Amino acid sequence: MKSPRFEYLRVESLDQVHSALAEFGDDAIILAGGQSLVPILNMRLSQPKVVIDINLITELSGIELKGQLLRIGATTRHVELTNNPLINENLPLISCAIKQVAHRGVRNRGTFGGSLSHADPAAEMPACSIALDATIILESCDGERRVKSGDFFLGVMATDKQPNEILKAVEFPVQKANDLWAFHELSLRHGDFALVGVVTTAQSSPKGVSNLKLVVFGCEERPRVVEISSQMVSSGPNPDEIADQVVQQLNPMTDLSGDPKTKRIQARSLIKRSLLDIFEGTS
Ligand code: FAD
Repeated sequence: MKSPRFEYLRVESLDQVHSALAEFGDDAIILAGGQSLVPILNMRLSQPKVVIDINLITELSGIELKGQLLRIGATTRHVELTNNPLINENLPLISCAIKQVAHRGVRNRGTFGGSLSHADPAAEMPACSIALDATIILESCDGERRVKSGDFFLGVMATDKQPNEILKAVEFPVQKANDLWAFHELSLRHGDFALVGVVTTAQSSPKGVSNLKLVVFGCEERPRVVEISSQMVSSGPNPDEIADQVVQQLNPMTDLSGDPKTKRIQARSLIKRSLLDIFEGTS
């Protein structure tokens, strides 16, 4: 199928984006890597009057370390995050997980900001951003707005981004030596969207593991942060027991990849694997 007719605006500055969004409102849509948007247009699931191509805005691209924060610009391609020394050193979780995002051709064009804006429940980067407590930086003609990644994803392809806003960058606190992490996903082939995935972070201290956080994705309509009582961790952690408790909190959806019962079984197995990684310190 072919896309509907639209006006194509190739902008070179954020000011031009804001003017276009202010003028066309809901009739305009931003184009980054086009890996999700172009199929959506071709299937006529979206019929914008204006497509705003942001690829020429140089300030939106790049990876920058500022003290204890690592900033990833919205149009930074997935491929730029693989084998990047700043990412490898400061965000080893992203360094591992980005290799699971799609196939090489898609990673060459797809962007970090595009993945977060698109908010596919089975996508890896939204879940990693929540696990690492990243901040999403949005901008409109009224100025900048910062949203915690945990508050940004609202549902299937729905976020807190307003129609007059562009996602500009994402800021991550760098991972420290005592930060533990694990990433596991189940997919039909390497590079496919996850059937289910689990991102886990925690801190190690001489007293053991603390601040255990599990984010399950590909299961509910948005990445789900599950709660684990500190008592379960401090009183001699038992991965089987914690996995049983955690999986009860999930409310899996039925999608093309499985029914709720199957997703629960898959999630439990990945949760247990992640906990073994964390508690045995093998990450
Ligand atoms: P686009 O397609 O250009 O845009 C997507 C949406 O985000 C649009 O609504 C657009 O308006 C909006 N948008 C983009 N950038 C901004 C911005 N800066 N500010 C505001 N709105 C913005 N993804 C995964 O995570 N895991 C996978 O395993 C995976 N597999 C894939 C396999 C295939 C075959 C394909 C085609 C895609 C796959 N993807 C996967 C999706 C891929 O990662 C996309 O690159 C990503 O979802 C969208 O990024 P994009 O830059 O291409 O955005």
